Amino acid sequence: MNAGMDEFEIIARYFAPLAGEGAFGLGDDAAVLPLLAGHDLAVTTDAIAAGTDFFADDPPGTVAQKALRVNLSDLAAKGAAPAAYLLNLTLPRDVGEDWLADFAQGLKQDQAEFAVSLLGGDTSASDGGLSIAVTAFGFVPQGRMLRRSGARIGDHVYVTGTIGNSGGGLAVLRGAGHALAAAARDSLVARYRVPQPPVGFGAAHLLQIAHAGVDVSDGLIADLGHIASQSGVAIVVDGARVPLSDPVRALWGADALVRAVMAGDDYQIAFSGPAGLNGPFTAIGHVEGGTGVRLMLDGREVPIERPGFRHF
Ligand code: ADP
Ligand code: MG
Repeated sequence: MNAGMDEFEIIARYFAPLAGEGAFGLGDDAAVLPLLAGHDLAVTTDAIAAGTDFFADDPPGTVAQKALRVNLSDLAAKGAAPAAYLLNLTLPRDVGEDWLADFAQGLKQDQAEFAVSLLGGDTSASDGGLSIAVTAFGFVPQGRMLRRSGARIGDHVYVTGTIGNSGGGLAVLRGAGHALAAAARDSLVARYRVPQPPVGFGAAHLLQIAHAGVDVSDGLIADLGHIASQSGVAIVVDGARVPLSDPVRALWGADALVRAVMAGDDYQIAFSGPAGLNGPFTAIGHVEGGTGVRLMLDGREVPIERPGFRHF
């Protein structure tokens, strides 16, 4: 831990101000989360690590936002409204006050944006890299959590937002994209650092329209593959309809589609539902009998070498 503060001082100074109802100011052994009648509690956890999910020298506020938002993305894809979270920090021993202050500020901003509060956590020091695990809790109408397993033959497949922006941002941070305008590069990097999961849409609308859903975190094709296998169906994606942003097209040119559908970290929602839905999402394909995911373009199947990100 850094010279000036022990873990209790860190908790009191930076995290206690973020504590929500039921957290007792982070002064007790456990917190309570008051339940909501007629709802299930949806629970999810995801950790991010320096060097894998963010860069150690990324702005600390964006690291905090990414840690929280990758979890809110899972809740959104299940139709749950986020309520609270736990924060498990493994910090380098020499972490500075500036880093912690900026990190806490990022959390504060997102707590206001997404109406969530901090319930507790754990703080430890390590000689290894920085990692941040968040466990998030959300409420979903009882028995209604949207599953990966509900896709039906004949459904259409939809995705929110655009695909590949974050992967493009990672490519830019690794040195690609010199020909792009600075604003385009910045927009991609911003998406890599701070995902934009459709939290409001997931909580307010998804359950009314979707049969199956998944958050797109490992790559569009890989994550649609989870719906396909869990539902026992095949998914066919019409490549011409996959929503790509202008910066992604500019960065990757003719390869944009294939690279975007294999890239990770989108944190959008892919879902299946009846044909003809309209809303803040794009129709990209359909469900049929069989197994797996096929990407079609100009009447031909596009080969996918590596459908998405894998840690091992
Ligand atoms: P314990 O005695 O169980 O180890 P701790 O000393 O780890 O308790 O934590 C004391 C209090 O501070 C608890 O309420 C815990 O939830 C909270 N806390 C510790 N670390 C964090 C953190 N990173 N974020 C939020 N709350 C934390
Ligand atoms: Mg503890």
